Amino acid sequence: MTAWNGGPCPKCGEQMPENLIHCQNCRTMLNSDFQSDIIEIPEFVPLEEISAMVDVDVSGYYFACPQCDRELKANKKYVGEKVVCKHCDGHFKLKEDDNLVAFYVACPYCEKELKAAMKYRGANVSCKKCEGSITIN
Ligand SMILES: [Zn+2]
Ligand SMILES: [Zn+2]
Ligand SMILES: [Zn+2]
Repeated sequence: MTAWNGGPCPKCGEQMPENLIHCQNCRTMLNSDFQSDIIEIPEFVPLEEISAMVDVDVSGYYFACPQCDRELKANKKYVGEKVVCKHCDGHFKLKEDDNLVAFYVACPYCEKELKAAMKYRGANVSCKKCEGSITIN
């Protein structure tokens, strides 16, 4: 994890507290984990006949607290539930909406936790750690 540790925003220079996802002033992405996608789209998608893709379900999400904008992670079973922010104690309902910035899955081959941007839902990808081919549901 390379969460934002606090300090001046690299873009606007404003002092920002730790654990933010976006700069509160200029909205620059501060958490470098969400800039680089850990799961990569392979250069070509193998044919199903010659390469078995294993389906995996999303385990949970990374998102910004709607009240303090700090980074939070929750199992997908909490979607639709009322949750409490560990940073600001704000209460809110976790929804599948724009606040979700990334998701995580457990690789079925190496069992490592993989984090990827929301756009990779439904994609055929390869695990960067073991190169196993997976389809993300
Ligand atoms: Zn900024
Ligand atoms: Zn919060
Ligand atoms: Zn793997």
